[in-house]
Amino acid sequence: MNKICRAVINFFQDFFLDLYNKLFSSKYVLKGKCKKCGACCRNILFSTAEGYIKDENVFKEMQKKHRYYRNFKISGIVQNKQDFQNGALTFECKFISKDNKCRIYCFRPLFCRDYPNINHDLIYNGVEMLDNCGFYFDVNKKFSEYLKK
Ligand code: SF4
Ligand code: SF4
Repeated sequence: MNKICRAVINFFQDFFLDLYNKLFSSKYVLKGKCKKCGACCRNILFSTAEGYIKDENVFKEMQKKHRYYRNFKISGIVQNKQDFQNGALTFECKFISKDNKCRIYCFRPLFCRDYPNINHDLIYNGVEMLDNCGFYFDVNKKFSEYLKK
């Protein structure tokens, strides 16, 4: 078999294996419902290429460069989480009202409209929903179900 034939066969093997995995392997699904507690608008994490923002001065510089960041103020600091999150600053959006309503609901950014979306890379890297959030991630088919066959 020449090199071109082998490359074509490998390509189709990878393609169909990838397709099979996408269609039939376990996937994370979102369950539960929003309790309207507003915690996700008060515990936002921002990151740069260096990781999560942990330094107030770095955030002030970001606010000078991008107006968007002026909509947020520091609300706390992450503790007792995975190493990569520990010490990260949390931010509160200035549009959340005291009774947990978004004051720009009709114009809220896409990110807010999508939240909480399923980002497999983040889940595999240990990102979890906020404590007490009404949503949680689950898998549509558990490993034990595959073993039953
Ligand atoms: S933290 Fe969860 S339950 Fe609370 S408002 Fe956000 S999505 Fe809803
Ligand atoms: S824009 Fe509205 S939904 Fe988005 S973080 Fe701010 S208060 Fe929450």
